[in-house]
Amino acid sequence: MAATIIDGKAFAAGVRAQVAEHVRRLAEENSIQPGLAVVLVGADPASEVYVKSKGKMTVEVGMHSVEHRLAEDTPEADLLALIAQLNADPKIHGILVQLPLPAQLNSELVINSIDPAKDVDGFHISNVGLLGTGQKSMVPCTPLGCLMMLRDHHGDLSGLNAVVVGRSNIVGKPMAQLLLGDSCTVTIAHSRTKDLKAVCQGADILVAAVGRPEMITGDYVKPGATVIDVGINRIERDGKKKLVGDAEFASCAEVAGAITPVPGGVGPMTIACLLANTLTACCRANDLPEPKGLTV
Ligand code: NAP
Repeated sequence: MAATIIDGKAFAAGVRAQVAEHVRRLAEENSIQPGLAVVLVGADPASEVYVKSKGKMTVEVGMHSVEHRLAEDTPEADLLALIAQLNADPKIHGILVQLPLPAQLNSELVINSIDPAKDVDGFHISNVGLLGTGQKSMVPCTPLGCLMMLRDHHGDLSGLNAVVVGRSNIVGKPMAQLLLGDSCTVTIAHSRTKDLKAVCQGADILVAAVGRPEMITGDYVKPGATVIDVGINRIERDGKKKLVGDAEFASCAEVAGAITPVPGGVGPMTIACLLANTLTACCRANDLPEPKGLTV
């Protein structure tokens, strides 16, 4: 194996430690505690796991953590009323509504009812527009984590060819915006892209966000490229349950210069960036300087 492994677990621990230090100073110097509210509707097992670990890590960095668990059949009006209450709560600086929502709820309406300044997922239409126009916004956590690791590994990203495979609103599109913001030459590929392999072979930075287990193999990778694997896929192999990415780790690592593993790559950065965003939102709400290196 030739590639350097980008250790997202260690990187995320470093981000959380920085957040914790800022939180400690905010309490000491300004008597302020950042607060994060997570809303979970229904009992999706994967969402349950995410919400539990978000709550645990929020407390670990010294923040105020609130969880609202609502029944699967919660009417939209009740959820909107809860969000209005959290929007108005001065102790809450970040609001996250865990997706996916049950079918009776309109996700876009719900997300757009969050105060954009408290939208720590960065999915509100205002934040999407601000990011797209290069203005100060709340940045979606997963792409933000990818960008932090890329900046750390490469330093300046300017002029590099970046290919993002996947065009979802939560990963692919904001990832492409962030790379463009750092002056990469960006291509967004998707299921209709012609000769995807050839497109990927041109990438200095290849971001795999397709939701297809191990689809990106070593022959898609330019020698020496950096592969960022966003995928989280639970598969069964040889009778055992296994977590794999959207890139086939072994073959990609033979060719790449650097690669994020799954697990232990992008995944841990997502929650670390959620905490970083909550801290940023709290600083902005209180007209305090934003923490350096934890935002775009
Ligand atoms: P998504 O909404 O399903 O989007 C997948 C994208 O991949 C779509 O744009 C789709 O193209 C494209 N695609 C699908 N099959 C393709 C193919 N054969 N060739 C080229 N493109 C193809 O997924 P997502 O929410 O962005 O998530 C992507 C992956 O990241 C998943 O594995 C998910 O579990 C993971 N994820 C991880 C984190 C984390 O914290 N690490 C966070 C979020 C998501 P079309 O638009 O043309 O359909």
